[in-house]
Amino acid sequence: MIVAFSGGVGGAKLAAGLATVVKPERLTVVVNVGDDFEHLGLRICPDLDTVMYTLAGLANPTTGWGLAGDTASFMAALKEIGGDTWFHLGDRDLATHVERSRLLAEMSLSEVTLSLCRRLGVRQAVVPVSDEQVRTIVRTTEGPLNFQDYFVRRRCAPSVLGLTFEGADSAAASDGFLQAMCHPQLEAIIFCPSNPHLSIAPMLAISEVRACLNSRRAPLIAVSPIIGGAAVKGPTAKIQKELGLQVSASGVADLYQGLIDGFVLDVQDADLAHTVSVPTLVTQTLMRDRSDRKNLAKSVLEFAASLRTR
Ligand code: GDP
Repeated sequence: MIVAFSGGVGGAKLAAGLATVVKPERLTVVVNVGDDFEHLGLRICPDLDTVMYTLAGLANPTTGWGLAGDTASFMAALKEIGGDTWFHLGDRDLATHVERSRLLAEMSLSEVTLSLCRRLGVRQAVVPVSDEQVRTIVRTTEGPLNFQDYFVRRRCAPSVLGLTFEGADSAAASDGFLQAMCHPQLEAIIFCPSNPHLSIAPMLAISEVRACLNSRRAPLIAVSPIIGGAAVKGPTAKIQKELGLQVSASGVADLYQGLIDGFVLDVQDADLAHTVSVPTLVTQTLMRDRSDRKNLAKSVLEFAASLRTR
């Protein structure tokens, strides 16, 4: 069993690569729920949807989120009647949110996610890290902001002072996560190249998740989302800087120090490998297409196997 921790776009790319080299029943993708929110009366789970659509081969290749070829009639109509349009919901994507919101009245988020994934042909286990609410609050120089207010409405402009994960203290880990971690053939745990602050940290803030990782029976490997001192996409580098951390792959490795057994850096950052205190793999981590995703997945799994035999 391979357990991959993922946020949205960056994480989903590696999860999709893993899905091409690992049998579906051997892959569990554990997904952040800190970005989830209620909007227009619907439950929106951006990271779960990005992973689900990417694994289904339905993701919008330009944005990385949303559905390929989706239309925007709903948003246009909402605008015409003066509705709230700051958060984009494509027409076909809307069906996911409506159906999820309906099903949540009867079942847990894990069960809803399983049901939606099966309907879209996703055979891997995609599990929310928790079925309970964990909400990321971004503490900024302009005051505390709900995650989507910071990320979408304010386009990550305010400077970040810190992050709070509301509900993480008391949230239980999901059964899907716990079962995957207890799998008799657990081979590797991978932190995909997701934003360490906004995507991975909310999951690690759940004490049951942290405890489970601390007593792991397989190597834990993190892949750097920072390449050549910059994020491929999104505010990872900006947040590192605002929090006074090194804006580099080394800075990411520092964040995970004491938790990980191996770290993967891009070839562009080969000269930083010696700064990392755990074994490293230097390889191409930029995933521009399917073959890059597959190659990175293979390399990470080989690296995990080498750590198991050390
Ligand atoms: P979000 O929730 O949609 O922001 O997605 P994630 O947290 O999963 O991913 C955002 C991170 O993915 C950013 O820090 C990017 O630098 C990183 N990222 C995106 N594409 C790639 C890639 O091809 N390679 C690597 N190494 N990182 C990537």
